[in-house]
Parts: sequence; structure tokens; C-alpha cells
Amino acid sequence: MLIGHGSHLNGESAVAVYRYADLLRGRGLFDEVIEGYWKEEPSLRQVLKTTASTDVTVIPMFISEGYFTETVIPRELGLGHQGPVPPEGIARVIGGRTVRYTLPYGVHPGMADVIEARAREVLPDPSPDDTALIVLGHGTTRNENSSRVIHENAARLRERGLFSEVHALFLDEDPRVSGWAEVTRAPRVVIVPFFASEGWHTLETIPQDLDLTDTVTAFPDAPHGPREVYYARPVGTHAAVADVIVHLAEEARGAGGPGGDTERGHEAAWQAFLKLARRGARVGELLITPELGVFEVRHALDEGRPGGDLMTLVTPEGVRDRARVTDGGEHRPVHTLRNLPRGWRAVLNEADLRRAVHYTYPAVVEETYAHSCHALRPTPWATTARRQTGIYAKVQRAVPEQVERVAGRVCAACLRTRLWAGERLTHSFLDGVPGGMPCAEACTFLVAEVREEVARKKAGAAS
Ligand code: SF4
Repeated sequence: MLIGHGSHLNGESAVAVYRYADLLRGRGLFDEVIEGYWKEEPSLRQVLKTTASTDVTVIPMFISEGYFTETVIPRELGLGHQGPVPPEGIARVIGGRTVRYTLPYGVHPGMADVIEARAREVLPDPSPDDTALIVLGHGTTRNENSSRVIHENAARLRERGLFSEVHALFLDEDPRVSGWAEVTRAPRVVIVPFFASEGWHTLETIPQDLDLTDTVTAFPDAPHGPREVYYARPVGTHAAVADVIVHLAEEARGAGGPGGDTERGHEAAWQAFLKLARRGARVGELLITPELGVFEVRHALDEGRPGGDLMTLVTPEGVRDRARVTDGGEHRPVHTLRNLPRGWRAVLNEADLRRAVHYTYPAVVEETYAHSCHALRPTPWATTARRQTGIYAKVQRAVPEQVERVAGRVCAACLRTRLWAGERLTHSFLDGVPGGMPCAEACTFLVAEVREEVARKKAGAAS
């Protein structure tokens, strides 16, 4: 299970995690590879329910340790742990599953290989005679861990002896990368940003601050003689990160080798769903039609449209990527909002149908089945609010009327029924009511909207 941050606003935020999950699925080393996010679905609160296995290794897809890896993810997954994660990780039994939580991929020693690979992309023949390497970190006085990782990787690469000098430099703390020409002596200097993704810093602030005009920039009048600076792409988007993830998962599982079983509640939920699908079903906004041993899936409002008028998708990932944006191209962090795009059809076998429905409505089959068995426990708003930390802690100040006002606006557009607010769901899509889906706990999207409401109210009172 790969855990990313995700975003309520920007669909690009989750793309790197999806990409690594696809790469790992392609290698066939694991029974399943699942993605989960803090700010989109499958959400951290639901994602464990979506695994078919009783043996789960959870890897935070972050470049360094910090608030998310030490506070938010363990809390939301229910690991019963807060604070630094020991090198061997944390193991817990949660809801019948053995869950192993590892350090983030960015602190794994294998990241030195990724840095070297990035350096060789821009300068294939680094030399211990004339090439300096700069491992460039963001750096911040608020998080010592992020700079420690940069120094550790610089030390590892120094030991390899491929470069004449290796330096750990930073954007926001000393020693700063702005002083690269003073710090280094070699005529060739490779800069590798130790960043999770391509973005504002790697594309704009770093090139601008260092006067880098291209992948290779000449500085004929630099201190200590003429130089060439080779600017690499960030480490976090290199395909070799998938190798680091595999190492982390293998180390977390130890010598025990592959373990685990099929989780029975999960399988029962999907068998109930497939029984329905084999007769033809409507699930939320989806219309599922069995056809000669495969299934056709489309938006229910596209019923009757000739297949030739619709874009045909043939993989669950194709459905996933389509379902992540509205017809207007807007990001859909909550998949049960009634804005599933139209204009497509998917033709899938039974195994792929399961995955496509998981992607379209994450955790909905598992939670709806649990609700039908009286096994889904709602989490009241007060409990959700109490759990919030950091900038979201202020939702604890929201009065019930404020929560209701926001929910009335946000949840009115959602298929789910708010069990957490005392609403009752008597029929679900499993018994023929397409929009019947439970909401056991306020989602992070609603929590963020309540936070906005509290902040607005405070600003209004102050003015
Ligand atoms: Fe939908 Fe509201 Fe539940 Fe979020 S809190 S999933 S918007 S019903």
C-alpha cells in the first residue's frame, strides 16, 4: 500500500503515486498494490478496508520523515502510534490484518542509487578527477530530518568515490546552494535536487536563483575558474524509486517471505457485488451490463447511446484516470460526488471490473456490504473533529449549526448517506437502489470546508 498526500484541488498531486503503483503492479511481485491518500480517495480512513489480503505493508511516499509520516498517516490508519518511526518500522494487527508501517521511501539508503542515476542522466561520465556533485535539499529549520537525509546521502555518495567532491546544500538553510561556486572547486558540477516531484522550486526558483539557462550552463567567470553546471531532474520522479519501494517492502516483511491470506469480509463484499453485476446493475452513477462473458460499464445517463459515440476504455486504470476529472476537467477528490464524467464506456473482464469499481467508488463496496451486515460503525463528527491536528485542529471550534450548514452544501452533491450525522440508510445499491451508499465518517474534503467556514466566521467577527 503506497500512501501519498493527494490534494483536494490538484489532480497532479497523486499522479506520482499512481505511476509507482502501476510500475509495481507490472512487476507482479505483490498480490495487489493499492494507493491511498490523505486528501483524496481512497482515503487513509478507508484504504485498509480495500485490501484483499490479511498481510499489508504500508509505505509512505514521502521524501523525508515529518508531520505526515509521524503524525497524520499513523493516526488516520489507526496504528496507535505517534512520533518517530523506528528503523524497523511498526507492526500492528488492525481489523484482522497484519499491517506493517515503514519509514518513507526517501530515507532509504537505496536513494543514493537514485541520486547517482539522476546525475548520470545529465552527465554520463562523472569523474573523481573533475566532477563535483551537489545533493540539493529544501532544508528548513522546522524539520531537521529533511536535512539529515541529504547529509546522509551525500556521505554515501562520497564513499563511492565517483566524484571529486560531494556536497549537501540547501535552498532554505546553510550551507546554501546559492554559494555553490565558492563551495566547489571542480570544473564540472552536477546538481541533483532531492525533491519529491517536479514543481515550482525545481522548475522555477532553483534555475532562476542559480542563473541556470539549460540542463548544462557554462559559468566562464566563476570563482575558482570556468565551470559547467549540469542540472538534473528531481529524484522523486525517477523510475528507480520503484526499486527502493520493493526493498522497503521486503525489509519490512523480514525473512518470513510472502504471507497473508484472503481477507474474508473483503471477499464476501466483492462476491455480493459480482453476484449483482452478473445480472446487470446500477451502482451510483454507473451502469454495469454483462455481455458475452465480459462487462460493459458506462455512465448511467449514457444508457442507450451507441458504443461508437463513446470513448472505449479497456483497463481499470483507464477508468481510474477518466473518473478522476469531471466533464469540465475539474479534479474529483471525492468520488461519490455526483459529477462522474460521461462519454465513455469500459469493456472489462470480471477481475478488471472489480478494480474499475474500486477506482470509481473506493471502499464503497466494502463499506456498503459491511453496512448491510450491521458491521459498519459510524464515527460521529465530534470524534472526527477531536482527531484533527495542525491547521485542521480549528474545526474543533465549529458549532453543530456550522457543520450542518457546510454539510448541507457539500454533502447534498454526494451519493453517500451521512450515517455519521445520524441519517439512516435503509436500502443500498446491493438491494437495487443505485445511490444507496453509506458515509460512516466525514471525509477530509468536508473537514477542510468546515475549517474554511470557521476561519471565515472568525475573520468576519474580527472585521
Ligand atoms: Fe460525501 Fe459528505 Fe460523506 Fe464527504 S462527508 S463522503 S461529501 S457524504
